[in-house]
Amino acid sequence: MVDFFGPEYDAAERLGILPDLEAIHYPISRLRFLDSQGKEKFSLPYSGVRKQIFDDRHFNFMRGELERVLYQKISKASVVRFGTTVESFQQHVGGVEVKLSDQSGCHVDLLVGGDGIHSRIRELAFGPAAEYLRFLGYHALAFLVSDQELSSQTENTLYTLTIPENKSVSTRACPAHSHTVSAPGRRCRLGFLNSRRHRGIAADISRDGLGNSTPSRKMQ
Ligand SMILES: Cc1cc2nc3c(=O)[nH]c(=O)nc-3n(C[C@H](O)[C@H](O)[C@H](O)COP(=O)(O)OP(=O)(O)OC[C@H]3O[C@@H](n4cnc5c(N)ncnc54)[C@H](O)[C@@H]3O)c2cc1C
Repeated sequence: MVDFFGPEYDAAERLGILPDLEAIHYPISRLRFLDSQGKEKFSLPYSGVRKQIFDDRHFNFMRGELERVLYQKISKASVVRFGTTVESFQQHVGGVEVKLSDQSGCHVDLLVGGDGIHSRIRELAFGPAAEYLRFLGYHALAFLVSDQELSSQTENTLYTLTIPENKSVSTRACPAHSHTVSAPGRRCRLGFLNSRRHRGIAADISRDGLGNSTPSRKMQ
């Protein structure tokens, strides 16, 4: 579940897609903050936070839903190739010759790398990623948990459990109508871990996020 606000909200407004994003917005009821024992420290209504902090310019939705909206907007006007990547390119005065992994090629005016933090385009253009990435000391990860018991306990609430200085884990509801989530009662769990002290924990949770079972723990 993505928190969508600030410059990204402004960009969506300029693209004219706010009504589409409103349609996939999934408002939660409350934000509850827990201490390391799972005891509530304080809670806030989401509607109040949305109004006072974000001036109502905030959405929650699944990343896949955003991709679907964007794809529907551009698929008639642009060519989208799935499962294909840039293998190499050569820049000329008149543009860029691009060779793709399906052995096809194309000539473009401008090549823009939108392939994330480990960008292949950046590597091809400027060299190894190690020269451009700076590790800030944190691991972040997110994954879906299908758990009826957790669902019935947490309802439509965002819980954030924080262990000071070390780690924080949040869990929140995912929309049952979502194209990316078909089974009702699924939860989206998101964790941020201080990697210097918790590399092992981060690795374990990542593995669980890839499909192994994660024991659920009752929230108080
Ligand atoms: C756990 C977690 C939670 C987050 N929560 C939020 C949040 O709530 N709100 C928020 O604003 N931000 C959040 N972020 C940050 C946000 O996800 C990133 O800032 C954002 O996704 C960066 O967008 P991007 O388009 O640059 O890269 P990405 O979103 O990473 O997109 C890159 C795309 O390129 C594709 N790709 C990669 N390599 C290649 C290749 N060689 N060839 C072709 N395609 C390739 C990938 O498959 C991917 O689809 C979160 C990040 C994490 C890790």
